[in-house]
Amino acid sequence: MRFGFDIDDTLINLRQHAFHIYNKKLKQDVPIDVFDTIETLEIHEPFGLSKQEGNQMWIDSMEEIYFTDCPAYPDAIEVLQELDKEGHEIFYITARPANHCEETKKWVENAGFPVQEGRFFCGMKDEEKIHTIKDLKLDFYFDDKPNVLNTLTEEPVQLYVRHQNYNKDLDMPRLTNWSELKEIIKKHTDKK
Ligand SMILES: [Mg+2]
Repeated sequence: MRFGFDIDDTLINLRQHAFHIYNKKLKQDVPIDVFDTIETLEIHEPFGLSKQEGNQMWIDSMEEIYFTDCPAYPDAIEVLQELDKEGHEIFYITARPANHCEETKKWVENAGFPVQEGRFFCGMKDEEKIHTIKDLKLDFYFDDKPNVLNTLTEEPVQLYVRHQNYNKDLDMPRLTNWSELKEIIKKHTDKK
């Protein structure tokens, strides 16, 4: 089967990683349990930053956020490696800016995710992901952002939202831990 994955905040814990970087750069000590209470995609508020300052902080910190030691979510790497070994096709579709695509691909490989040539797509806008996802004729697609998933609901792809506070109101099949993936596949295979 053909599986598509968003990367940031779907396979890796990018916002939490950025939260640590913000603390360090701003010389603050906002406790990590505050992170779990943030209801928005943006993380700047607990640091006392305005929306504009928050945007700038993200842009200024982007390389450090993207290319340091952001942890993958538990089981994500292992489960994807297993799918790859079983002969499934794994595609990555990320809206990271085009100038960071090559390095992102390398980073994802180095982190231990299985990346096959020609199966890494990067540099499109969130709302443009639909074109890649349509062309790839995916069986499953996983993402954290409602504004991406909402563009795909008419497509013949099984969608899953990777649970986050900011998507909790999205009415869609939901994955909270990557250890659930095998069970999800089994459920859909049994149905067919
Ligand atoms: Mg994402």
